[in-house]
Amino acid sequence: MSNFVVPNRIFDPEAECMPSGERVKMQIAGLRRTVEQAKKIPFYRRKFDKSGIAPESIKSLEDLQQLPFTTKQDLRDAYPFGFFAVPRAELARLHASSGTTGKPTFVGYTQKDLEIWSGLCARFLVAGGLTADQIVQVSFGYGLFTGGFGLHSGIERVGASVLPASSGNTQRQIMLLEDVKIDTLICTPSYALNLAENITAMGKKGKLALRYAHLGGEPWTEEMRLGIEEELGIRAFNNYGLSEIIGPGVSGECAVRCGMHIQEDQFMVECLNPETLEPVADGEQGELVITSLNKEACPIIRYRTRDLAYLDSSPCECGRTTKRMSRIRGRSDDMMIIRGVNVFPTQIEEALLRVDGTAPHFMIELTRPGNLDEAAIKVEIRPQDFSDKMEAMHKMRDRIGREVTAITGLHFNIELVEPNTLERFTGKAKRVFDNRKLND
Ligand code: ADP
Ligand code: ZN
Repeated sequence: MSNFVVPNRIFDPEAECMPSGERVKMQIAGLRRTVEQAKKIPFYRRKFDKSGIAPESIKSLEDLQQLPFTTKQDLRDAYPFGFFAVPRAELARLHASSGTTGKPTFVGYTQKDLEIWSGLCARFLVAGGLTADQIVQVSFGYGLFTGGFGLHSGIERVGASVLPASSGNTQRQIMLLEDVKIDTLICTPSYALNLAENITAMGKKGKLALRYAHLGGEPWTEEMRLGIEEELGIRAFNNYGLSEIIGPGVSGECAVRCGMHIQEDQFMVECLNPETLEPVADGEQGELVITSLNKEACPIIRYRTRDLAYLDSSPCECGRTTKRMSRIRGRSDDMMIIRGVNVFPTQIEEALLRVDGTAPHFMIELTRPGNLDEAAIKVEIRPQDFSDKMEAMHKMRDRIGREVTAITGLHFNIELVEPNTLERFTGKAKRVFDNRKLND
């Protein structure tokens, strides 16, 4: 049932199937435009002035390598709007990177940015089977997160109808899938698996009209795909994006499903060795570094995504001429994605610092007993604060739990351990133990 053939359809053949010579010319023009636009951002202007870079310096695609890198920290340092290149009046929408209730990273869109973005989402949706006669349930959160609204506009661009279910309340999600006879589901892969298991448990397996799912926002494996497709009797497609670049729509799978086509008319994607920052060969794993070519509100240059993948420039049977990227195979930093939310160990550290009596020794363990991530933290107590009074220890544990939730927005199981019980490190501390077995 789940291996029916998905017709090969292309939303924007002009952009997606452009001969490569023509695309190179467009990309060079796009890079120049981006340098011009980025000059309005003090961070870039300073860097350009220092190294004498001007739009005319870009003569070939190799000249991209003269441009400066941008990191998440650079964006944070310019909070809230230091990376915006247009006046407030020209903004049409703001979003923010997911996860924390601490300071997010804002991204802005002009009306033209929004149009480009919805077109990019439309491309991967159509590549994965969406047609105008379908009804799509968006079970991504609608809010600051780019996923909900991004996909919503993409569906409308295709002319399909959208049911903005937003996230949460699994029983209700299943009722909607069933009663509305939803054709296509949009959510994270772990939520799709969760829905699938609940649907089976409710005896509704094989009784839904659902045929397609477009999943993204967190890493997943081919094994998970098989599980989701088998349980739901659908075809599930992978799509990738990040708010700093635009949101979902940076790349997505076609019906052939051998990697995600990168929307190269809008972005230059380099794959670099994260240590040396030298390019790696096709097929070799490296960090994706992305430059926007057309963005007005937040042009971004050589953004270090920290996402590890490899590129494939070989031709694809679908007829698109764009490069493809593999699934995300890991991170070059210590960011964890827990239930779709980005969390850094430093945020846990920050929470612990707020609670007297905790030692700076902790360990994070991630598991996935069913379909949902579980996160636990073991925290060492300072000798002078260690008590055999249960009540005092419970109070401290609850306080830590609250602080961690306040910063990450997630629930962690907190376990207090006696002084000097956690491993000490001589080099880089290993604080995160990810036992979810996500990577092949
Ligand atoms: P969101 O708000 O969608 O979580 P963010 O921009 O905060 O978006 O997070 C983007 C990150 O999510 C990416 O850098 C990547 O690590 C992860 N991600 C997004 N899509 C995928 C995908 N299809 N596969 C693996 N990881 C993904
Ligand atoms: Zn293809």
